[in-house]
Amino acid sequence: MSEVTATDSPVPGAAARSVDVWKVYGSGEAQVSALRGVSIELERGAFTAIMGPSGSGKSTLMHCLAGLDTVTKGEVAIGDTKLTGLSDRALTNLRRDKVGFVFQQFNLLPTLTAQENILLPLSIAGRKPDRDWYNTVIDTVGLRDRLKHRPSQLSGGQQQRVACARALVSRPEVIFADEPTGNLDSRSGAEVLGFLRHSSRDFGQTIVMVTHDPNAASYADRVVFLSDGQIVDELRNPTPEAVLDKLKSLEVPSDEASEALAVDDVEEAADPAAEPAAVAEPAGASDRTENA
Ligand code: ADP
Repeated sequence: MSEVTATDSPVPGAAARSVDVWKVYGSGEAQVSALRGVSIELERGAFTAIMGPSGSGKSTLMHCLAGLDTVTKGEVAIGDTKLTGLSDRALTNLRRDKVGFVFQQFNLLPTLTAQENILLPLSIAGRKPDRDWYNTVIDTVGLRDRLKHRPSQLSGGQQQRVACARALVSRPEVIFADEPTGNLDSRSGAEVLGFLRHSSRDFGQTIVMVTHDPNAASYADRVVFLSDGQIVDELRNPTPEAVLDKLKSLEVPSDEASEALAVDDVEEAADPAAEPAAVAEPAGASDRTENA
């Protein structure tokens, strides 16, 4: 599988970028290289989905791009600001001023109303909301008649729309959405995805979404595929079917490996001439096969 470098045609004024980013967890035998030389430019105003098999590095990449985690090697920038080498305080300020987040679990404060939750990041930053923009956001997410409600009085879909409005109201350089529809039924999920797409197309909001759902990814302008810590492919203007096909092709090696394993087992078991030593399983092998 050849590595695709998503910086082949650099985009002037990318909203965020990584250059040859490595992220290594642990040390010695427990060492895991979660990202292995990832270079990506996130075009300003585009809606990008990050996909890949479980453990391929999607969350790690998002956390590194958003300044929630540091990189082991390489460089990350949001707008014109390089994150590498920033102090914790400068990073906190940068996230507050330039980044919006939408999480799978909504992460709303239960004691605050929808409106207070939406305005919280701006109040923490000591900034006043732009009234016209605030009204546009509220009407776009359809929350006008729910602003005085607390999260527990709202459905999951409404809570996620509050979280989207909270991310959008400060007009951040990038909104990072981590499995934003993971806790929603398909109708509410479609509403939230439609809203994210609308924010990018009509308001020029840059959005990066991690998802494992091909249908969710098809709302994006571009899907980037990770495998084993590297960007291995990408699709523009994706359909759910095209995304699913790419995902299947990424997961083929492990399927082939397990099929090959199964064939080996059958051949060994069926070969009466096999030396006993050749058939004998090393200790723990059957556990590994069952857990594979
Ligand atoms: P994905 O989001 O695609 O499922 P992750 O980015 O969560 O993948 O993980 C990529 C790899 O890094 C996995 O092998 C995972 O076990 C490992 N990993 C992630 N976070 C940590 C951590 N804090 N400590 C050690 N290993 C980690």
